[in-house]
Amino acid sequence: MNNLLFEYMDEAIDIINKSTKIFIASHVNPDGDNIGSSLSLALALKKIDKEVFVLSTDGIPNDFKFLPGSELIQDYNESMGPIDLFIAVDSSDVDRLGKNKDLIKTTNKVINIDHHISNTKFGHINIVNPKASATGELIYYFIKRLNIKIDKDIATNIYTAINTDTGKFSYDNVSSDTHRIAAELLDAGADIKEVNINIYESSSIERTKLFIKTLGGLKTYSNNKIAIAKISQDILTETNTTLDDTEGIVSFIRGIGPVEVSCILKEISEKEVKVSLRSKEYVDVASICGVFNGGGHIRAAGCTINSDLNSAESLIVEEIIKKIR
Ligand code: 5GP
Ligand code: MN
Repeated sequence: MNNLLFEYMDEAIDIINKSTKIFIASHVNPDGDNIGSSLSLALALKKIDKEVFVLSTDGIPNDFKFLPGSELIQDYNESMGPIDLFIAVDSSDVDRLGKNKDLIKTTNKVINIDHHISNTKFGHINIVNPKASATGELIYYFIKRLNIKIDKDIATNIYTAINTDTGKFSYDNVSSDTHRIAAELLDAGADIKEVNINIYESSSIERTKLFIKTLGGLKTYSNNKIAIAKISQDILTETNTTLDDTEGIVSFIRGIGPVEVSCILKEISEKEVKVSLRSKEYVDVASICGVFNGGGHIRAAGCTINSDLNSAESLIVEEIIKKIR
């Protein structure tokens, strides 16, 4: 952590101390870093008697419902009152806030805590560090800076954020600091058994069938260096699953030996496809997604293409091939 970020954190703490109603929100298609970061921060701020609201953008995926404090996540409604302070976590730009994005216009206090390389620094205070392995790492430092004790529930949430965003501590953005933080979280009581069972060992039979069907349609390009699978609405209906159940497929495909870039294309509607890309060693997938106005990290990124599944496949393959050595 560099000193500048501690300076920004101190400014943010000053604003928190002067605020009563604090709203926390994160990005569409929630993942573990999104939910774990939001909930750990909310639980910490409640300990210093703040009135905290955690806003739902797209509900909460089943995998993360076990997390302590998950019942705090709710839709915004006007009865919550005016927004004193808005804290965006793990969101690289305003659009990523989905249905909550206009709320930030109603306040002049926005704190943006994130680790995406493509972050647009849209907050009044920006605690942004692309070197952090997960937003959860920044939240850990922030809670420590706030002088709030990290209890078991907070620790379990931060651990989930870091564990899920680092592929269980395996990606190249993992540092020795990441492991030191994890060690402290375990000392604070983080329930890693709960985390592992709920996130990695609770797949339903339906979800397993979705994996099998999707992988059955796997296509490869460039000497197996690119591997792509499509998930249509029909497959979801056939297997009685939802888009949340697709989590994990794209990283599984990257795990195939020769694959450098893995890709899944999720049909949202006839003219809208959500793309997820992962890379193994050298391709910057954030820049590929940038071509389609998306973004993310060097090894994990996403975008939306407004076309049918087959056209989206051609468009994305064309961009990926350019980057393959
Ligand atoms: P996923 O493939 O799991 O949806 O997302 C991988 C990474 O890319 C995450 O860090 C996510 O926040 C980011 N990401 C996914 N889709 C988009 C998008 O449409 N725009 C931007 N800016 N980032 C995205
Ligand atoms: Mn993240």
